[in-house]
Amino acid sequence: MSTAIWWVRRDLRIIDNLALRQALRIHSTVIPVFIIDPHLLNKKAAVRQAFLFNGLRRLDQTLRGRDSRLILRQGDPVEVLAQLVSETGSAVVYAEEDFSPYARERDHKVGKTTTLNLQPGLTYRHPLTVVKQDGDPYTIFTPFSKVWKSLPFLDDLTWQPPAQLPHIANLTSEALPQFAENSLFPPGEVEAQHRLKTFETELIYTYADQRDRLDLDGTSSLSPYFRFGMLSARQAVYTAIGAMKTAPDHITRKSAETWVNELIWREFYQSILYYFPDVLKQAFNPKLRQIPWRTSIKDLQAWQQGLTGYPVVDACMRQLAETGWMHNRGRMITASFLTKDLLLNWQEGETWFMQHLVDGDLASNNGGWQWTAGVGTDAAPYFRIFNPILQGQQHDPNGTYTRRWVPELTKVPLEY
Ligand code: FAD
Repeated sequence: MSTAIWWVRRDLRIIDNLALRQALRIHSTVIPVFIIDPHLLNKKAAVRQAFLFNGLRRLDQTLRGRDSRLILRQGDPVEVLAQLVSETGSAVVYAEEDFSPYARERDHKVGKTTTLNLQPGLTYRHPLTVVKQDGDPYTIFTPFSKVWKSLPFLDDLTWQPPAQLPHIANLTSEALPQFAENSLFPPGEVEAQHRLKTFETELIYTYADQRDRLDLDGTSSLSPYFRFGMLSARQAVYTAIGAMKTAPDHITRKSAETWVNELIWREFYQSILYYFPDVLKQAFNPKLRQIPWRTSIKDLQAWQQGLTGYPVVDACMRQLAETGWMHNRGRMITASFLTKDLLLNWQEGETWFMQHLVDGDLASNNGGWQWTAGVGTDAAPYFRIFNPILQGQQHDPNGTYTRRWVPELTKVPLEY
């Protein structure tokens, strides 16, 4: 009879959660804990924080449905966990491994005073497993993805969390802060499962054709759920491989494979952050660290507020400010505009996106910015400039999306 802590960080789910599963395999009592870390709360990211805290509320409801609950404490994780371990007599703290430099340092510190058992799950393949023969990491996407695809797919997704989760009744817990819910992205794993199901049955086979259209809902809209682990990467990959196997023809099979490639992009950027944490401070490509970017507060603010005068750029930036969301094509268009038309530093854009995106993720955001600015891992990037007029014509052919977010253009004829 032993007790353990399940330390929830960015894995707000009980389905396919390897940290929870491992804790339950070995211990009779498992206490789910979330620590409000003041370091993380200091960041400016209201939309994402609301999504996180509302997600925690959902997780708590799920746990209560299984006779357990989420214990919420605030403070430095090293101290909070030491305190909880002594309060509960827990032998081990289980958590899903996280790859950000802050998380790795924090876990290292926690490990000095507490037995911390880190389990995989943030990515389908751990960065340590997708490497060159000499053990070096890949720095170019295509060879990374080839090796990623060539490795065995050995998943056991049959484990189900038990109907009752034994816990300790009288532990104190702080109240969850109240935030309004984002109607575009209701938080929680029930919603994530629902979205995955809809995508798998309806959209995955048209994804390749529709994923670049700003005016259609042709993508999965799952990124906020991946960001906070409301859905496991394993389940997503498993679902996509299943869709490839049951695809009715070559075209639909290819479409499902295109989606797998996007999941691999996510894994690639996590791997880059794992091996090259300095990308958060500077360009990945050493030759491109000294670019004399322009500085113009006026232009930067026009970009941030969606007032550049370029319709599709402004539509995307206004959508981001209002909803916390932007389509992948829009992210590329606006990032290219900031760096290659306005010639402003990509790090300004990276910061702005992190402050506003509901799915803001250090690795993917940094990777996306470095890729678009042409200073990152891409092999031949500097001449790739997204023409902000052609992009609008191609990816919003009827102007529907642009008119929705830039209503002053509602009556302007399509040809303009
Ligand atoms: P789908 O098209 O359905 O793809 C499925 C999943 O694959 C996504 O949910 C996401 O997890 C992953 N994925 C797809 N495209 C990419 C990509 N290019 N790079 C990494 N992962 C990808 N994604 C984030 O999750 N967080 C960010 O902060 C982020 N910032 C970005 C900034 C820039 C400048 C750019 C160009 C891209 C950024 N992306 C980011 C990647 C991409 O735009 C989003 O993942 C995607 O728009 C999410 O929509 P979806 O869930 O419908 O994706």
